[in-house]
Amino acid sequence: MTIRQRTQVGIVGAGPAGLLLSHLLARRGIDSVVVETRSRAYCEARQRAGLLEAGTVQMLRDSGLGKRLDAEGLEHGGIYLQFAGDRHHLDFRDLAGRTVTIYAQTEIVKDLITARTAADAKLEFEVTDVRVSDPGAQEPVVMSYRTKDGERREVTCDVIAGCDGFHGITRGLVPGLATYERAYPYAWLAITADVPPSTDELIYSRHPDGFALHTMRSLRTSRLYLQVPVETDSKDWPDDRIWTELSKRLALPGWTLETGPVVDKSVTPMRSFVAAPMRHGRLFLAGDAAHIVPPTGAKGLNLALADVRLLTEALDALLTDRDSRLADEYSDTALRRVWRATHFSWWMTSMLHVDSGAGPFDERLQLSQLDYVISSRAAATTLAENYTGYRF
Ligand SMILES: Cc1cc2nc3c(=O)[nH]c(=O)nc-3n(C[C@H](O)[C@H](O)[C@H](O)COP(=O)(O)OP(=O)(O)OC[C@H]3O[C@@H](n4cnc5c(N)ncnc54)[C@H](O)[C@@H]3O)c2cc1C
Repeated sequence: MTIRQRTQVGIVGAGPAGLLLSHLLARRGIDSVVVETRSRAYCEARQRAGLLEAGTVQMLRDSGLGKRLDAEGLEHGGIYLQFAGDRHHLDFRDLAGRTVTIYAQTEIVKDLITARTAADAKLEFEVTDVRVSDPGAQEPVVMSYRTKDGERREVTCDVIAGCDGFHGITRGLVPGLATYERAYPYAWLAITADVPPSTDELIYSRHPDGFALHTMRSLRTSRLYLQVPVETDSKDWPDDRIWTELSKRLALPGWTLETGPVVDKSVTPMRSFVAAPMRHGRLFLAGDAAHIVPPTGAKGLNLALADVRLLTEALDALLTDRDSRLADEYSDTALRRVWRATHFSWWMTSMLHVDSGAGPFDERLQLSQLDYVISSRAAATTLAENYTGYRF
């Protein structure tokens, strides 16, 4: 037997984008149903991003999600850039008048699920066989799925939000989609460690053996990354090997990297990807469903939430006032920011990683670029205003 329901917005995917959209729409009196293939526990534990732009923090506060963020988030006024044996500080407050905040994606997802559950939201985890009818057709679009108890549900929706990440199904519903892509010739080995960070702010280090990044999730938990070859298997990297390599690539006289138990280890490919347009008829794509960036610029989560902010305004005007102007502009407006972040993420990635296929000429260019960033206020400001969130 199929159970039939009706909602205004059918949301595919309960990552940060889908959950925040459901939350922001509810605050404007717009009903939604969110379907997610993974379990709640899996979504809440998935280790990913951890750095929020100033505008992202403000948006979360403005939407009633600031309590734990303000209590536990760590505000950073800059980053360290390390290369050629020296470590240099970039002061974002001075250069761009803004800061960034460390607050893990897992915590944002927990805050959102708690808020949506408290509001009795229609949030279905562990669904299977999600299907969406042709969003380009005249009639309302139907999102159907099987619940974890095996029951078939059909939800008739005014619009669908495709928030199902890079491997989701909704992007494939846009006919004639253009895609722009770059795969980088290296990957990141990421670890989370139960040890207080050895630094007050992030250290981005370009070392002749490869890039390394020291970031954190809290004052108790460190997060660190190593550039590794694309085909790397994390099993080949026991904890001792990881700490030795990190200690070497982040080394600085008088500074020590504290080590501790590794609680999470994974390899992440580095890719830039943009799909356009981000709308087809009644379907709107948001977040990783439409674009991904290499994590060097810490932009993916921020972009996903920025899409959602725009989409909320567009859907509110469309569904409440029957005004389609913002919905019609949604893809172009979102893509303007997406391309800025795509360029910045590519630039940071290219400047800091060692490409084994490139020669000494490219290495000299990288070092010259880094030297320019730490010695020119104009160059440092370019990095700072992009890193903290450029607003057109
Ligand atoms: C290692 C790593 C480090 C990162 N670091 C940063 C950082 O420091 N700063 C930053 O801003 N970004 C960072 N990112 C990127 C950031 O995590 C993503 O951009 C962010 O998760 C995007 O959110 P989303 O909701 O669009 O997609 P996702 O988080 O991918 O959520 C999509 C959801 O849809 C679900 N789904 C998929 N298919 C279906 C289906 N058919 N039906 C229903 N549900 C489905 C998935 O299970 C998932 O829960 C990092 C990413 C990685 C991998």
